This record gives sequence, C-alpha cells and structure tokens, in this order.
Amino acid sequence: MKGTIFDIKEFSIHDGPGGRTTVFLKGCPLRCKWCHNPEGLIKNPQIMKKHNLCVGCKICEKGCNHPECEPFGVCIHSCPNGCLTVSGEEIDSKLLAEKLNRDKAMFEFTKGGITISGGEPMMQSDFVCDLLDKLDGIHTAIQTSGYTDEETYKRVISKFDYVMQDIKLADENEHIKYTGVSNRKIINNIEWLKKSGKEFVFRVPMIPGITDTEENIKAISEITNGHKTEYLQYNAMAGSKYKMLGMKYKL
Ligand code: SF4
Ligand code: SF4
Repeated sequence: MKGTIFDIKEFSIHDGPGGRTTVFLKGCPLRCKWCHNPEGLIKNPQIMKKHNLCVGCKICEKGCNHPECEPFGVCIHSCPNGCLTVSGEEIDSKLLAEKLNRDKAMFEFTKGGITISGGEPMMQSDFVCDLLDKLDGIHTAIQTSGYTDEETYKRVISKFDYVMQDIKLADENEHIKYTGVSNRKIINNIEWLKKSGKEFVFRVPMIPGITDTEENIKAISEITNGHKTEYLQYNAMAGSKYKMLGMKYKL
C-alpha cells in the first residue's frame, strides 16, 4: 500500500519513549495558526523554494522532459542555485517497514521504537495500519490531533503501543477560530482513549495568548482529569518554512 510522507527523523528523543525513528505523514484536516510543519498540511508533494537564493533567471520555467517534474510546472533539477526541493514522496508500506525493521536492535537497546506523526496520521489510516502490520515487534507510538471519526480513531489507536494525544483548546469556538475545525470529534475520541486501557499522554501546545491562558489550561485539566499531560513550549521558529511553500504564517 502506498502512503505519502514528508520526512523520516532518526535518533529522535522527543517523540515518545527511548530512541525513536519518527515518520511524518503528509495531510492534515486542521489549520492550526501556529503549525510548525506547514509541509505536512496538504496531502500531495509540494515544491519548497529558497526565495533568498533565487535570482529570477527563470531557467526552471523553461520546461523539461522529466516525468517527476510534471506536477510542479517547473524543472526541479535545473536551478543553478539549488533553490528548489520537493517536500513529500509516495512510499510503499512494505519498503518503509523493511527500512524501519532494520533498526530493531537499536530500538530494543534504547527502549525506543517507531513514532508515526504528521500532519495527521489518521488521514492515511489504511496506510498506517498496513505499515504497522508489517513491523517486526517494534514498539510503536502515534502523535495525533484525534480529529477523525470514532471508527477510524479506534481502529488506528488499537494498533499502537503508545499514544500522544494533542489537546489544543477546550472551548469549541476558540478551537474553530484557531484550528479551523470543531473539537467535538476530538473530545469524543479522547473520552474513549481514557477508558481504552492504552498507554497514553496528553500534549498541550503552549501558544502565547491562545492556548496558554488560565481559562484554557483550567478547562483542559478538566478533560485530562489527572492523566499524564505534557505542556509543549511554543516553537519560535514555527513560521520559517511558510515562505518556502508560498504560504503565509498567520501568527
Ligand atoms: S532556476 Fe532557480 S534561481 Fe532561477 S528562477 Fe528558478 S528558482 Fe530562481
Ligand atoms: S494538527 Fe498538527 S499538523 Fe495539523 S495543523 Fe495543527 S499543528 Fe499542524
């Protein structure tokens, strides 16, 4: 089965227990104004352009015969200044599992494993489940917003050993305002997670003046209800990749 990823990060120590390899999947139904992975938002591969190196020579627009350049309208190999890269690649679950399985001994030594992140992994739920079925007894973790229907959430979560479940904003209107979607599905899925018997942690991004308000933290603590919760510092570099994708950072 094919899926679309935009990064594989090895030797990660912040994406779950032990030393981990994190696979970042493309596509997310949310549009959090603070998102620091804008290349994970849309499902398809995208051009990233280093505008500061571009001299406007238009060599990349002259046309080429490379099939891989066709979707982008420019030749991704021609820039003399190395301005153009593609974020996102389609990958086969079997090949990806083989690559990940090769590090099994390292994962065992560090008590780590594989983390599936994004983007939102639930958007490629069939691919994720297929990939996990092909892993060779490796510890697995998922980072998710929890924004999906109940059936998909249960099906995907049941495959994993460890869940990192985001909670951003408790108030529905605030959630819509800052992420573009209602939090009802998320809260519904969280209620199931709390009773599921899965090992999990809640993760709250601390966005100044948005999610870190006293009111929101108090309301979130009512949802988390004493379960383990991590508060994640705002990434001050969050906006740096937007310009390369031709997007505007909203904070
Ligand atoms: S070839 Fe490179 S430098 Fe020239 S216009 Fe294209 S991106 Fe800019
Ligand atoms: S859920 Fe995560 S990946 Fe999706 S927009 Fe929000 S911060 Fe970005």
